[in-house]
Amino acid sequence: MTKAWMSEKIQITKLHDQILQIFFPMEEEANRIVDQGPWCFDKDLLIVKPRRYGEANKVEDFYHTSFWIHIKGLPLKCYTKDMEQKIGKNFSGCSVIQIRENLDNGGRFFRMSATVNILKPLRRTIVLRGPDEGHIYALLWYEKLPIMCFNCGIIGHIAKKCIAIEMGKEMHKIFNMEFG
Ligand SMILES: [Zn+2]
Repeated sequence: MTKAWMSEKIQITKLHDQILQIFFPMEEEANRIVDQGPWCFDKDLLIVKPRRYGEANKVEDFYHTSFWIHIKGLPLKCYTKDMEQKIGKNFSGCSVIQIRENLDNGGRFFRMSATVNILKPLRRTIVLRGPDEGHIYALLWYEKLPIMCFNCGIIGHIAKKCIAIEMGKEMHKIFNMEFG
């Protein structure tokens, strides 16, 4: 953690099974780590939030976090301000949308920051109304995402260990391999 953050003087205390208190000597450093989050270490998601003096944190405080999400597979004519607005309306807490070039294949994609509930299945696709009024499907890709189940779309386990499968066909119908 200290290596990835290029920060050696942090102090880490365990407050709870799932909550660590991390003390940074420099406020700018703490802000940088919060802004660049969430983080992924050893396939575990680490959500870093500022803590006010004397404030008690609950696990529930960490259920929502911002992810950088890529929206890929759109035709070139879709990279417009109008489309940016349409995408923004599809996500809660959408604060920034940028157009980025993929240097590997010359393709384009939208990159945006949006709030995600980490306990709910992640959206893997989005349907948008294109410039010609037809529907266009795009794929979503999440930066710094740890392991995610391709059966139910929830972070933290793989499809082989998916509780939705263990709970039988009824439950499976609900999730219906929608996120594969
Ligand atoms: Zn699952």
